[in-house]
Amino acid sequence: MSEVSVTKDTAGAAEPLVVLDNVNKHFGALHVLQDIDLTIAKGEVVVVIGPSGSGKSTLCRTINRLETIDSGSITVDGKPLPAEGRQLAKLRADVGMVFQSFNLFAHKTVLENVTLGQIKVRRTPKAEAEKRARELLDRVGVGNQADKYPAQLSGGQQQRVAIARALAMGPKVMLFDEPTSALDPEMINEVLEVMQQLASEGMTMVVVTHEMGFARSAANRVVFMADGRIVEEATPDQFFSNPRSDRAKDFLSKIL
Ligand code: ADP
Ligand code: MG
Repeated sequence: MSEVSVTKDTAGAAEPLVVLDNVNKHFGALHVLQDIDLTIAKGEVVVVIGPSGSGKSTLCRTINRLETIDSGSITVDGKPLPAEGRQLAKLRADVGMVFQSFNLFAHKTVLENVTLGQIKVRRTPKAEAEKRARELLDRVGVGNQADKYPAQLSGGQQQRVAIARALAMGPKVMLFDEPTSALDPEMINEVLEVMQQLASEGMTMVVVTHEMGFARSAANRVVFMADGRIVEEATPDQFFSNPRSDRAKDFLSKIL
């Protein structure tokens, strides 16, 4: 993963990787993203928090073009998002996404889940893709589940496979949209630990989560959203000890 070494070489230089410039999006009459300006530097871990319906998922989904935007611009590694075809498939490989609901291919084995994209999008030879898949499955602690189908795994195991699948593409940035929200409590930590590890290895990450312990320990920056806007941005320390906006104070008083 060459991007990781680039990040280390330029640590502190804050080279931008994902840039949203005055992004607006509507769903019909609903102005779901309003004048969003957000720059994510290489190697940075940004945690996005905010009330339900504030636009956090939509924000993530625009970055890999699962949702289009109405105005403004988004670039990844200096390039505007491609609209379709092979370039779009490559963008989605560069911008890995992990969803609340795992979204594994139910009719494929764990190993196939982690090799398919490598073979089809990255055109990696099958043997090499399988080698890489097994290494990644080992890394996330499910190396012994490779021949099973997703339904035979626990939620925590499935989510770790989903992370391995995204990592197999050699992403430049990883988006996590409430990756632990659908998990039984005892499985949350096994997923957070994998994410924490990735963060400490220098992966650029955008993480929507209500796990404030993770935000405190892994985030470089907290972005607080409400009603489609970025209301507040701060370091985790600043944000949790001294939130500035009434919206953030109100939100924190309900969840902490
Ligand atoms: P969050 O992730 O912060 O809970 P979302 O980005 O999922 O918020 O949703 C923001 C708002 O947009 C909500 O009011 C939601 O109902 C609405 N919304 C999300 N997706 C769609 C869609 N595909 N069509 C219409 N409305 C949507
Ligand atoms: Mg959401």
